[in-house]
Amino acid sequence: MSFPRIFADLHTHTNASDGTLSPEELVKSACNAGLSAVAITDHDTLNGIPPALKVASSFEIQVVPGIELSCGWSENEGSVHVLGLFLDHESSQLNSILIERKEKRRVRAFKILDLLESLGIDVYPLRNAFSMEKEKALGRPHIARYLVEINKTPDFQSAFERYLVRGAPAYVPKPNLMPMEAIEVIKNSGGLAIVAHPGLFKDWKLVWEKIGNFPWDGLEVYYSEHNPNQISFFKTLVRERNWLFTGGSDFHGNENDKSKTLGEQGIEKNQFDFLLRKALQRKAESKF
Ligand SMILES: [Zn+2]
Ligand SMILES: [Zn+2]
Repeated sequence: MSFPRIFADLHTHTNASDGTLSPEELVKSACNAGLSAVAITDHDTLNGIPPALKVASSFEIQVVPGIELSCGWSENEGSVHVLGLFLDHESSQLNSILIERKEKRRVRAFKILDLLESLGIDVYPLRNAFSMEKEKALGRPHIARYLVEINKTPDFQSAFERYLVRGAPAYVPKPNLMPMEAIEVIKNSGGLAIVAHPGLFKDWKLVWEKIGNFPWDGLEVYYSEHNPNQISFFKTLVRERNWLFTGGSDFHGNENDKSKTLGEQGIEKNQFDFLLRKALQRKAESKF
């Protein structure tokens, strides 16, 4: 039995966020993996898109401009990742939201450092590093790694538990984007708003009660960590709602996570063409 060929992997990360490959290297690898299309969906940034688009023509591969927005609620650390696919990466609304979020994350990171300092921990080197780094997202993982380095805590996990989680002495709430805001800005940017890896919600029922009636375009049905039962459950849901389905590997570069191989998850050509048509309709209807 032969499996249908994966035509497009619609979920990948470059080093513009937390992947290890540059956008150019990612496009080249996607081509080598036999893909005809690849979406770049970095966390909360569009910086990987222009260099990827630039090299796409020389590799005969279609690059789909995308993003993965981290969303959540202030009363709950639980998060929802929202994929925006086929969007206009030059959209001024989307870009200004991303700049504002970056600034808020920065403010939060410095607040955490202030709290650690008030606990008598020397955070000077980290404060210095954060002041120099203007482009990359700063956050708790960097701080946790530093706390391990200076032997304040034995490992990454305990750094979070001891200092950084809700209830711990250096906890500062996350500046969250609401899922509904993400849907709106993606749609206004001519893109399709998709629930990323719904199989990873810790409590599906609880999250779905909150977001199930939002105007999603679809669900990421095919995903590296979805099991066959989840895939068929989400497929049925998508059919019932008359939504779209997408698929992708969530590749971050093999060094980061060997279980997520580029081009191993995705969609076939006819599904890709269908999504493309829907995105063109969206662009025709949207404001620009
Ligand atoms: Zn995600
Ligand atoms: Zn991802």
